[in-house]
Amino acid sequence: MKLTKAAILAVPFVGFLLTAPVSFAHDWDAHEDVHEDLNAQHEAGHENLNAQEQQTHETLDAAHAEAHEHWMTPRQHRRLHRRLREAHERAHEYENAEHENLHQGLNEEHENYHDWR
Ligand SMILES: [Zn+2]
Ligand SMILES: [Zn+2]
Ligand SMILES: [Zn+2]
Ligand SMILES: [Zn+2]
Repeated sequence: MKLTKAAILAVPFVGFLLTAPVSFAHDWDAHEDVHEDLNAQHEAGHENLNAQEQQTHETLDAAHAEAHEHWMTPRQHRRLHRRLREAHERAHEYENAEHENLHQGLNEEHENYHDWR
């Protein structure tokens, strides 16, 4: 049986299963827009994270170079590197958490969208 869109719209209480494919087809453009928007947000989020990561590495490099302008005992140098490594790890942990937040936020937004459409 083939129903035209007009025929389905003329029977609004025909049931979800029958109307859903039509409204899906109809909303496809909106769905695409939402996905494009989410992708754009994802990309922007990653650019932001990459910028943060680059900043982190530059800051750590600068701190390392600055420390080397002073004379250090091997022990002080080891301690310096341990601190740099710890700061580096913390920064990446923070960025990983941010990345997770980003994905969680995007997933929620996507799910909310599909809850309603
Ligand atoms: Zn790194
Ligand atoms: Zn060093
Ligand atoms: Zn990602
Ligand atoms: Zn979707």
